[in-house]
Amino acid sequence: MRAVFKVTKNLWDKVHRDIVRPCNRARERVGFLSCKVTTSENGTLIILAYDYHPVSDEHYSLNSAVGACINEEAIRMALQVSLSAKCSMFHVHLHPHKGLPKFSSIDVESNCKLIPDFFGVTSHMPHGAVVFSFDKGEGLLWTSKESAPIPIDEFVVVGNPISIWWPRKSSSVQKPDRDFSRQSFLGAESEEILSQVKVGVVGLGGGGSQIVQQLAHAGVGRYAICDYDRVEESNLNRLVGATVSDAECGRLKTKVADRLIKGVMPDAEVNLVEDKWSGGLKSLSDCLVIFGCADSLKERDELERFCRRNLILYIDIGMDVHKSSESFRVAGQVISSIPDEHCFRCMRLLDDECLESEKRLYGAAGHRPQVIWSNGVLASSAVGIFMNIVCPWHDDLRGPIYQEYSGNGHILTPCGRYERSQKKCPHYQAEDVGDALFNKSDLSSLQQPHQP
Ligand SMILES: [Zn+2]
Ligand SMILES: [Zn+2]
Repeated sequence: MRAVFKVTKNLWDKVHRDIVRPCNRARERVGFLSCKVTTSENGTLIILAYDYHPVSDEHYSLNSAVGACINEEAIRMALQVSLSAKCSMFHVHLHPHKGLPKFSSIDVESNCKLIPDFFGVTSHMPHGAVVFSFDKGEGLLWTSKESAPIPIDEFVVVGNPISIWWPRKSSSVQKPDRDFSRQSFLGAESEEILSQVKVGVVGLGGGGSQIVQQLAHAGVGRYAICDYDRVEESNLNRLVGATVSDAECGRLKTKVADRLIKGVMPDAEVNLVEDKWSGGLKSLSDCLVIFGCADSLKERDELERFCRRNLILYIDIGMDVHKSSESFRVAGQVISSIPDEHCFRCMRLLDDECLESEKRLYGAAGHRPQVIWSNGVLASSAVGIFMNIVCPWHDDLRGPIYQEYSGNGHILTPCGRYERSQKKCPHYQAEDVGDALFNKSDLSSLQQPHQP
């Protein structure tokens, strides 16, 4: 079993703000993270942290032998949170340095005593412990009261930028056999990061085909690509990678995108979802970022909801051609939705009214005009935003991004309708993460004999 631990940047910061405060009853502070979980197609367990519970000062017992000794009351409160929310609990403490922290033998020993108790209140969820440093972390996971702990393979702090690391880098990690020296400014680790991250692309028509092509050239190694459509002659004006013979035989767009990726990344892992994206949720659930090239606002709304639930960063592109009295106006947007930050509703891309009016017009819209050069600008910008989120090389564009595209003037500008504010997004709740139907049989199917 592979285990991934995800936390939003806001929650990560909250934990760190609390845990570094001095405590007069202990040398260090500890806390608990409430988490929900989900799984992916290949049996990866994804732990999604959503709330933090500090231990209050009076619940530390004076004990000079260890850094922090918490009393029965602190543990009772953590058990109560797990019981009421039916959630996973992860014990958290800090090693105050930069770089990868390591559990001490006392850390492991005390967690082996503490964590199995959580199965007494919430037996169908995994529980565990993490130790954070200022910028990294490692973790242990229990799948049952009796099981030996399993190390967490991957950590992700979801924000703009994203931090991702693998505490126990396996030697089997293969870098792509290509020369990426022309993009070395992305950082010494960028090749490895790009080869390991999984990216979803929903919609492989005009915009999606260019996103897939660019990701492959940039060195992204793992994909989930979704489209149920087949190539037609009318697609050839914009579908990068498609040929006349693809149109003649009606080849699936996923097959064209797969061929495009493998042409530059022969060892890439590509999950093909030849269905509506909602038919491939388990292929998408372990993506780090999903690109949406959806046709409708409704689909954007649903994709954003899915991404929020799984702490996935979502980047959406769209374009349209509007007819005014005497001419045509090409317009579009590239917009990002970062879990625990402003959503598409906060950013005024979506509201109930526009979803409702789209529903009324459904069927009357016909095929929307699409052109390769506008799709190209939007796809390139989306990939550029992604690259700076995953392999940051500048800080000019942080937080949620909403760029509007004028296809007549060939200009991208920050959207004037979106006013950044400190106000939290009221549309999504932190606890609405994970697979609500996750149960004990999911957990036992993930268990494997493990050599500690
Ligand atoms: Zn420690
Ligand atoms: Zn919102």
